[in-house]
Amino acid sequence: MRLDRRSLLTGFLTAAAASALPVGHAVAQGGGLRTGRYTYEGLGTVNTHWVETPGGGLVVVDVQRDLTHAREALAAVRATGRPVRAILVTHGHPDHYVGLGLFKEAFPAAETWSSPTTRDTIRDDTYGFNAFMRRAAPGDFPDRLLLPERMLAPEQTVEIDGLTVVAREMGKAEANSASAFYLPQTGDLYVGDLVLHRMHGLFVEEATTEWLAALDRLAVLFSGPRVVHPGHGASGPTAELLGGQRDYIVTARAIAADEFARSGGTEEARVRVARRVTERFAGYGFPAGLPDLVGLSAAGLFREFDRPGRGPAR
Ligand SMILES: [Zn+2]
Repeated sequence: MRLDRRSLLTGFLTAAAASALPVGHAVAQGGGLRTGRYTYEGLGTVNTHWVETPGGGLVVVDVQRDLTHAREALAAVRATGRPVRAILVTHGHPDHYVGLGLFKEAFPAAETWSSPTTRDTIRDDTYGFNAFMRRAAPGDFPDRLLLPERMLAPEQTVEIDGLTVVAREMGKAEANSASAFYLPQTGDLYVGDLVLHRMHGLFVEEATTEWLAALDRLAVLFSGPRVVHPGHGASGPTAELLGGQRDYIVTARAIAADEFARSGGTEEARVRVARRVTERFAGYGFPAGLPDLVGLSAAGLFREFDRPGRGPAR
């Protein structure tokens, strides 16, 4: 099966309609700087994170998939009583950037940062999400998307209101680009969708080899992060979250390789992969709200195996 773009898009939209209870919270972290998170239960749950700055403000990471959830995330941020000094966008999937204009309107002085690839992906509508969502949910999607204004170099350290943010471009993996943000003052690591905590992964980029390599790099790149903050799912200890993501990818690949070797990339094989992965990771959530997210990912793995120089073994 080829990736069915329409079902992918519909899934993102379905997620928009799947709002349930917001579960924002704030927890104390190292360095006396507290972190917080806004999210909600159900299909398509996605995180907006924030961390306090020494200067009395906040840095926000990712800003929701639609205006409804972006408004709720903004309300949670406002409840801290602190002004937003900067907004960081981890990658160019719409569940992470749609609320950028809303946040900027509320905090006009906030800097907005992303990698150039992420900015271009939003601007060019590389995945076709923006046009689709404007048609499908016109009231819940901005007429004009705000683009991140400040571009991150592949390796860059920025000071924001006294907070040191070490930014690294991690390359193509879950999306066509991924930025990781490490805070050496507190030991917090923000990774976008390079890590999904107890959530099914999206393998449509045909880049699981690169994704595994990115996880290896994360493990050695930063000097001992204490807490990983994923794009989807709860924050948690570094080893547990990196190890969990690695296990998910390696296991899903092994299952797909087994079926691929037996019967090639047939529709029946794809369905078997989806069933086995879903059973193996029972209870895992669906970050994109896609009813057949695991099936789409199975198709992505088959396409990846089919590429010259690839193959199911690693
Ligand atoms: Zn996401």
